[in-house]
Amino acid sequence: MDIFSFGVHFTDEKSCRSHFKEQRDKEGVVCHRCQGTDHYWLQNKWSYQCKSCEARISLRSGTIMESSKLSFMTWYKTIFLLSTTKKGFSSKEIQRQLGAKRYEPVWAMVHKLRKAMGQRDDRYTLEGMIEADEGYFTIEASAKAHAAQKKGRGSKTKANVMVMAESTVLEDTGTGKVERQCRYFKAKVLTDHKMEGTDRTLQKAIDNEESIVFTDRSTSYVNIADYVEIHISEKSDERTTKETLKWVHIAIGNAKRNFVGTYHKIKAKYLQLYLNEFVYKLNRRYFGERIFDRLVIASITASGH
Ligand SMILES: [Zn+2]
Repeated sequence: MDIFSFGVHFTDEKSCRSHFKEQRDKEGVVCHRCQGTDHYWLQNKWSYQCKSCEARISLRSGTIMESSKLSFMTWYKTIFLLSTTKKGFSSKEIQRQLGAKRYEPVWAMVHKLRKAMGQRDDRYTLEGMIEADEGYFTIEASAKAHAAQKKGRGSKTKANVMVMAESTVLEDTGTGKVERQCRYFKAKVLTDHKMEGTDRTLQKAIDNEESIVFTDRSTSYVNIADYVEIHISEKSDERTTKETLKWVHIAIGNAKRNFVGTYHKIKAKYLQLYLNEFVYKLNRRYFGERIFDRLVIASITASGH
């Protein structure tokens, strides 16, 4: 979907709403009252009606647009802006692009979409060979916190993020040269700096049974070996950065650069949402124009609360 085909497909409120209905029909509608899955479509009310209990379900209800007063067109333009640029936009810039009067509804919409991206990616776990490392992301902090800044872990001006990457080793049988090819990523803000918190985050993200996890020798994930097949920990040096942990380090570097370049300052409590967007696009980097439709579907299946 480029700007021209977007303009051809989505000319007005009706065309956006119809597309949204098509996608929602494909996903299937579930009755909020009886969990029934068969519905009539009431064209004049733009609502579904449950065939077993007759409950009415508006086109927006049960999706992230549920309590939003913004038009479908506004949502669609925003989905377009978010999905088609690798770099992303700040909510301020999206407000400007939309010509919206008020900032707050735009900000809320963009964050809901970022939440939906995260929920979508949470459906999948990483498997096979996995690189894992922590990255320290700059967050907005008070002047006081800056003055008392402690470097690294526990710092009030940095948030600790666990970044993981599925990384398959490919060996060229001719030359014997080894390369690592990467598929899916995850990035999760660690809410505490304790071992249990880190372990829980890893445990949720990884298909535990048959995974092999590579880390450097840091104390915070010392328990990994208890629940994955194999945990390989190496001393952090130039070689681990270039080989063993190559892709997580690339991802951490790119995410940091992206955040600095696109967003002014990120508050700690919203950092996960920005990571959601970054990782969502990274995981779908080969989707091309299909990413627009995928994000519409994510907004249908994610909850608005
Ligand atoms: Zn029902």
